[in-house]
Amino acid sequence: MLITKNEVLKGLRDILGPDKVVNDEEALREAEGPLNRRYEKAFGLYTNPEPIAVVLAKSTADISAVLKFCNDNMVNVIPRTGASSGEGLLEVRDPNTIVLDAAGMNNIIKIDAFNMMATAECGVPLRILEDEVRKLGLTTGHSPQSQPLAFMGGLLATRSIGQFSTYYGGIEDMVCGLEAVLPNGEVIRIRNVPRRASGPDLRHLFIGSEGGLAYITEVTVKLFPYYPDDMWLGGYVMDSMATGFKAVREIMVKGYKPSVVRLYDKQDFDVNFGNVELKEGEAYMFFTVEGPAGVTKATGDAIHEIAMNYGGRYIGTKGVEYWLEHRNDVCKTVGEGRAQKYRDTGVYNATTEISADWEDIAKIYEDVTKAVPAKIDGLVHFGGHISHSYINGTNIYFIYHVKVDDPKDYYKIHCSIVDAICDEVLKYPTGGAVHHHGMGKQRVHYAPIEHGTSFILMRDLKHMMDPNGIMNPGVLVPKYDH
Ligand SMILES: Cc1cc2nc3c(=O)[nH]c(=O)nc-3n(C[C@H](O)[C@H](O)[C@H](O)COP(=O)(O)OP(=O)(O)OC[C@H]3O[C@@H](n4cnc5c(N)ncnc54)[C@H](O)[C@@H]3O)c2cc1C
Repeated sequence: MLITKNEVLKGLRDILGPDKVVNDEEALREAEGPLNRRYEKAFGLYTNPEPIAVVLAKSTADISAVLKFCNDNMVNVIPRTGASSGEGLLEVRDPNTIVLDAAGMNNIIKIDAFNMMATAECGVPLRILEDEVRKLGLTTGHSPQSQPLAFMGGLLATRSIGQFSTYYGGIEDMVCGLEAVLPNGEVIRIRNVPRRASGPDLRHLFIGSEGGLAYITEVTVKLFPYYPDDMWLGGYVMDSMATGFKAVREIMVKGYKPSVVRLYDKQDFDVNFGNVELKEGEAYMFFTVEGPAGVTKATGDAIHEIAMNYGGRYIGTKGVEYWLEHRNDVCKTVGEGRAQKYRDTGVYNATTEISADWEDIAKIYEDVTKAVPAKIDGLVHFGGHISHSYINGTNIYFIYHVKVDDPKDYYKIHCSIVDAICDEVLKYPTGGAVHHHGMGKQRVHYAPIEHGTSFILMRDLKHMMDPNGIMNPGVLVPKYDH
């Protein structure tokens, strides 16, 4: 740190005016968002240092000026938009830090229904953009469970994925171009060219960058036609997860493109939805298919045939309709509602998402569901589902509820569960320790194993783009103790 905390506050107020530099106690305490360290915070425990200020940017010029000031004075910057992330992404580990919030950059710049693209500032909530394009019969196709909470900048920076990804893809398949500010304040732009072969794809320096390389200020994403009336739905009870994996694999490798493919074990399904009766060991598999009517009918018929060939018991569409209606309900309880539940029950809930190819994923599911309950005391509940499938593999979302007697122990217990899962996953050649939440500061110690011999490129990329190391230190490349 080259200057004092008061000099940082004064410098930032000189640049932006006093109203945009907030340092009241509540803003500083809320700076990490509602998800990071949420269990201990529910009990009034704040273990991380507070940042110096939360700085409210309204324009790219604001972002540029603040980054230049911070870079010149070696002040750390954590970018923030919707603040809906976990994984320690927004955690403040060093008091010499400001949180640079761009929720005020919330203009939709252009909706271009001819070229099927929408351009938005980084602080535009995805829900608002989706509502606007729906008025034109279009969709962004992006629908993470946090759609009501997340904003465009964060969605890019975390390499997010939506519930209908099997048809529309993850955010990496949607981004056409962007504007970003480098740590020295320089503004750069990647134009919206449909495809280019002019070297490595520079968009990928920003997609998944976790706030550790640059500040994304504007995003252009693809648009798709929306066909809600022609959606095909189907739900099946399978005799086991193992059979479900086989059925889903066959659907994917034969080239069908449902928008939702989900396979739940009983433990996960009962605690989250529970509207379909499952016997011990059974699994619930369901699908939605989108597109023009002829396509959805043909795809639905093929899925039905494959599911039945694997012994699936067709149970109609009610369970899928219920999921469609309630799939984002959990967002309503993020914040005080959830904190109260933690205080009432002494039990917290969390998820860890991983991926692997078709050969490894079923073994990983078996290994993890055996290893974690054996290692972790206080586990009330442990299950999993798949929700994003590809021709070459799928993901698993492990979900767990854990009894924590002393909130001071929460973070250690939580990290031991995440580690117990990742240790099993990384034993397999195609096991990926993070499917879509980002490594944050919580899983980044696995980055050297996750990336293997290519990790040196991540380290050098961080140094090249952020030579003073001010951008969200501790993401992408380990810096702090676990
Ligand atoms: C209930 C719930 C359900 C969720 N479901 C999903 C899901 O289905 N799929 C999914 O992918 N995720 C999901 N998430 C996680 C989270 O919503 C995503 O990671 C989302 O992309 C975060 O967006 P945000 O705007 O809230 O970003 P923030 O939380 O503000 O920031 C996230 C990260 O991005 C960086 N960042 C933010 N804005 C910028 C910017 N403009 N430039 C550079 N870096 C930036 C931050 O520094 C941080 O590292 C869920 C979260 C919750 C609470």
